[in-house]
Amino acid sequence: MNARADVIRKMGRRSILDRPQEKEGKDEFASYVFDQKMMEERLSAEVYAHWLQVMKGQEVFNAAHADAIAKALKKWAVQKGATHYTHWFQPLTLGAAEKHDSLLTWDEEGQAIENFSGKELRQGEPDASSLPSGGLRSTHEARGYTMWDPMSFPFLWSRADGLTLCLPSLFFSWKGEALDHKIPLIRSEEAIGIAGLRLLRFCGIEAKSVFSTLGAEQEYFAIDRRLALLRPDLLLTGRTVLGAKPPKGQELKDHYFSSLQPRILAFMIDCEEEAFRLGIPLKTRHNEVAPSQHEVAPLFEKGPAAVDHNVLLMEIMRQKALEHDLVCLFHEKPFAGINGSGKHNNWSLATDTGLNLLDPKGDPLVFFTLLAAILRAVHLHAPLLRACIASAGNDLRLGGAEAPPTIPSVDVGKSLEKILRELIHKNGTDPRKIDLGLSHLPEHGADASDRNRTSFFAFTGNKFEFRGVGASASCAWPMTVLNTIVAESLHALLDSMEKEVEGEKWQGAAPLLQKAFQSSESILFSGDGYSSEWRGEAQKRGLPDVSDSHHAYAALLEKSTFHVFEGVLTEKELRSRYDIFVEHYAKTIEVEANVMIDLFRTQILPACLKAQKEWGKSLKVLADLQMPLPPRLKDGLEILTGLISDAIAAIDEVERKGEQTKDLGWDAKAKVFAELTRPKIQTARHLIDQLEKIVDDALWPLPKYWELLYLK
Ligand code: ADP
Ligand code: MG
Repeated sequence: MNARADVIRKMGRRSILDRPQEKEGKDEFASYVFDQKMMEERLSAEVYAHWLQVMKGQEVFNAAHADAIAKALKKWAVQKGATHYTHWFQPLTLGAAEKHDSLLTWDEEGQAIENFSGKELRQGEPDASSLPSGGLRSTHEARGYTMWDPMSFPFLWSRADGLTLCLPSLFFSWKGEALDHKIPLIRSEEAIGIAGLRLLRFCGIEAKSVFSTLGAEQEYFAIDRRLALLRPDLLLTGRTVLGAKPPKGQELKDHYFSSLQPRILAFMIDCEEEAFRLGIPLKTRHNEVAPSQHEVAPLFEKGPAAVDHNVLLMEIMRQKALEHDLVCLFHEKPFAGINGSGKHNNWSLATDTGLNLLDPKGDPLVFFTLLAAILRAVHLHAPLLRACIASAGNDLRLGGAEAPPTIPSVDVGKSLEKILRELIHKNGTDPRKIDLGLSHLPEHGADASDRNRTSFFAFTGNKFEFRGVGASASCAWPMTVLNTIVAESLHALLDSMEKEVEGEKWQGAAPLLQKAFQSSESILFSGDGYSSEWRGEAQKRGLPDVSDSHHAYAALLEKSTFHVFEGVLTEKELRSRYDIFVEHYAKTIEVEANVMIDLFRTQILPACLKAQKEWGKSLKVLADLQMPLPPRLKDGLEILTGLISDAIAAIDEVERKGEQTKDLGWDAKAKVFAELTRPKIQTARHLIDQLEKIVDDALWPLPKYWELLYLK
């Protein structure tokens, strides 16, 4: 029996109600987080007050308090059962990285004791020379440093019966250059905070701080682990490089919001319980459009906390899935011809006083100025927004039938667009009339029919939804770009508003806002982003349309990017990111090609040759009996043989393209892999998928799409 059939037979015997573990009582929300409540309870009033101010961005961390904090953290962690600690950080390719140290040390008498110093809390020196640095570290200065980030709460993460004290940290080179996703994110938060406060000051509204808010809707696939184990492509690349279209895909539209299967629900509940302990405020769970595809969404939080929580959640999901004999796939396009997975980044700006600056029912001048700044930012920096969602995986998703196209545009919704067009085209439009129009807006966001799923960047009532972001990406980078470009645009608008507006603010600002909306009108689009007309229309409007990510990355090297990123990332740091992303992109496709070559030659081809032999034998039996050969039977063998021969040639081509890149730099490699290798992979795949449709099912070594997508 082949391995596939064996797995399926075993699956049939399994009770779908099996729960892997007996549950004890539930932990309270955030009970494994050293949060504000813990800080207050376990630290002196002075240290607590200081740390709180640091969290609010009002004070710089005073290292003199590190020992006291470390002591309190250790006591709490050990009481809960922790044995190790780690600086938990977010380097530029992985989700998160960690290197564990035990809390054990020698005391003066040589006895083993549990200890944890302020120094250990603050700084780590992981031997991180193998993490990507894009040339920011040369080998002789290879060390990267991690530094505890007091803006994020420490937490205790339980895995494999061990509990680890995790200290959210920043990762940088010995010269202080950012090697991670968090440092620029925090710098961009500062930038948007300053710009937001300036806006409020202009509008006469008091607040101590402005910050971004983020709610990331996470899509994923959950498939059976035993079947996935038979697919090296899934294990090594996160997606299937081969696989014929199943007899049933998502045509019947019967999966979206359908009833959750017990096995999947059990997995979701386990993830939620762990997430709750860790203070991740999960809110929604449901089935998505494609079979085996699901979504989880949290309540929104401050940007950096939401970023950390999404990274942590993905890791929890990956690990919990295994306990349920499932594999959780975050790839943007795990299955060809089936919807891919995105991560809608819902973004807004809020104040410490509880205002949402994108609430149309709030102050109209704040709302319209921020809106003008956002449209200006998206218009001016469209290539940068495209670049920040670029990846080899997302290239396979964007512009498909389920994801926005690669053209940055903004959909503000029909009612708001009408108001904006009026303001843009009618000189002297009475601003109070616009104000009046706003009272009709509240219904806008709630009306699901008004949702444009095809939009790159959509206003959804009181927040923007950045839909282009891929499911596997860290939200940190797109959020950094968004904060940074909107901050710059706010300053640009406020420069002129502060200078020119006298007397009644709204009255005086209207012409300036009109001008701003006019210059970015070309990105307003509420039509069908999937349609081919939009491509043409966008071209007429002069909007950039970069379909391959390796071209998109070039935006990181533009002068305008260096300029807008001042204070967030230096030119050197931007260049290093360019290098890292391009290299990662090229290597991703290279691995896909290698997996494909390997799978074909060692698994698919032998199966096809066996099928060919069997077929030949049938013909021979007829010939031996001197029976006439039915032409269809003979044709069939010819077709099979032809496909095998073509597939061998196509795979050789994939290999040859790869060999041609041997001496090239990463830029050139990325170009070859994207523009030459990927089409060759596609050709080979097409042939192999045809073979899958005619070769004896018992011989086919790889689990098929319908098995992966439907067997649970
Ligand atoms: P959808 O219908 O697109 O799923 P929801 O209203 O359910 O829209 O919101 C999706 C996500 O947006 C959730 O994570 C939610 O917390 C988040 N969200 C809502 N309001 C805001 C906001 N002001 N800022 C950031 N995210 C928000
Ligand atoms: Mg949404």
